[in-house]
Amino acid sequence: MPPTEPKSALVIGGGITGLTTAYRLQTLAAEAGVALKVTVLEAADRVGGVIETIVADGFVMERGPDSIITEKPWAAELCSELAMAADLVPTRREPSGSFIVSRGRLCRVPDGLHLMAPSRLGPFAASSLISWPGKLRALGDLLIPRRTGEGDESLGSFVRRRLGTEALERLAQPMVGGIYTADPDKLSLAATMPRFIDMEKKYGSVIRGLMTARRKAGTSARGPRYDLFVAPRKGTEAITRRLVETLPPDSIETGVRAENIRIARGRWEVETSVGSRFGDGLCICSPAHATATLLAQYAPGLAAELDAIEYASATTVNLVYPREAVPNALAGFGFVVPAIEKRDILACTYSSVKYEGRAPADKVLLRAFLGGAMSPEKFDLDDRDTLASVKRELGDLLGITREPEQTLISRHPRAMPQYHVGHLARVGRIEAAIAAHPGLELAGNAYRGTGMPDCIRSANQAAERLFGQLFGTKES
Ligand SMILES: Cc1cc2nc3c(=O)[nH]c(=O)nc-3n(C[C@H](O)[C@H](O)[C@H](O)COP(=O)(O)OP(=O)(O)OC[C@H]3O[C@@H](n4cnc5c(N)ncnc54)[C@H](O)[C@@H]3O)c2cc1C
Repeated sequence: MPPTEPKSALVIGGGITGLTTAYRLQTLAAEAGVALKVTVLEAADRVGGVIETIVADGFVMERGPDSIITEKPWAAELCSELAMAADLVPTRREPSGSFIVSRGRLCRVPDGLHLMAPSRLGPFAASSLISWPGKLRALGDLLIPRRTGEGDESLGSFVRRRLGTEALERLAQPMVGGIYTADPDKLSLAATMPRFIDMEKKYGSVIRGLMTARRKAGTSARGPRYDLFVAPRKGTEAITRRLVETLPPDSIETGVRAENIRIARGRWEVETSVGSRFGDGLCICSPAHATATLLAQYAPGLAAELDAIEYASATTVNLVYPREAVPNALAGFGFVVPAIEKRDILACTYSSVKYEGRAPADKVLLRAFLGGAMSPEKFDLDDRDTLASVKRELGDLLGITREPEQTLISRHPRAMPQYHVGHLARVGRIEAAIAAHPGLELAGNAYRGTGMPDCIRSANQAAERLFGQLFGTKES
């Protein structure tokens, strides 16, 4: 009798989601003692997706993400599994904190501020970030009755209602913009920061909710939360490289663009730019707009739901300066810029201050962000105008007049999913539709969280479900 073919799974997209899915499928197969051939199909000539780190001449420059939030444990857990926990370094202890641009100047984020509201009233009152009428209006949150309606609400509507317009324009919009690059009047609060909804429900006030949480956390919450963010010493690409090392050498095909999906003789057929690939299971880990194209013929209704998830584009610019060329003390991890300030950049990270080992001691590595949902036209600037905008802003805000010694411009077109009002209901419909196609899974940043830890969790869950369906285990 000829030996039976092992079962096979195809993974489309070789970003952190696709690589983690492949890794998890392999791990589950090894644990169960079953044979499973996993193949990752990646359109680009490299894997990693938006994750890319350039390590050279004593610099560690990130083109995409630079930090892992430890409140969501899935990335740190994966790093432990990959024997790279010791590689994770926390943000520097001193200096810490960050700044928000206010009326053309950098103002320190007051201690205890949580995205939109204070958990400590003293530092908030002393801050020059918002006006006295703005502060008093924000404190109105302690008195304003709870919302009675139940439907999804935008971040903008929530903050305006509870804390006032100034808190929205000068705190919540830039702080949240730094994470989601989103328009607060479209961003679903339930899909992004549900804990603020819970605070309103439970305590009748965001400020009271934050203060209670701070008291409950005890003394540890009083000081700055040192290790909220960590990063691999040599940048985030260390994680995707390590994932690749764990996979069999023939399990990744780069330069292979998936173009269409269909069922052929009971298996998944993925038509690609270089011919068809077949698998018993299929997990699609591309951005939702690409996934929609792939599913347009096989599942048009599902494809339409996926296509309705909007994406924003962003540019990052790494810049190197000699330390003496930067007059600002750089006493924090960087700054964010409210849209109301009408500047060309969204934010700037002081990369060599935030993490040790990112630049030689006599140099400064900065990283500016442009574009996002609030200023899409900045993403369209060519290299010359992008650099001119960034240099002008760093001149104004940090006093830098010298030319940078090195620059690295990175563009991320349609890379940041926008969780608009109604997002969770849409994801519910997508998940219900997928459940009707056994052996097909979706994972990635488009659904239930946009950060790397969320992608890793999404990949773990998709791999477990797919493995269960392939081998009939209880996860299915
Ligand atoms: C500038 C920037 C900064 C960020 N900062 C942080 C941060 O500090 N911390 C954090 O946690 N998160 C951050 N994020 C978010 C996080 O990096 C991403 O959500 C995550 O890396 C997405 O991974 P992914 O694998 O789902 O998608 P991607 O990285 O987009 O990978 C998808 C892959 O699919 C491939 N693909 C697409 N279509 C096809 C096709 N038809 N056939 C085959 N392959 C295809 C693409 O080429 C790509 O490689 C940041 C994102 C950006 C853009």
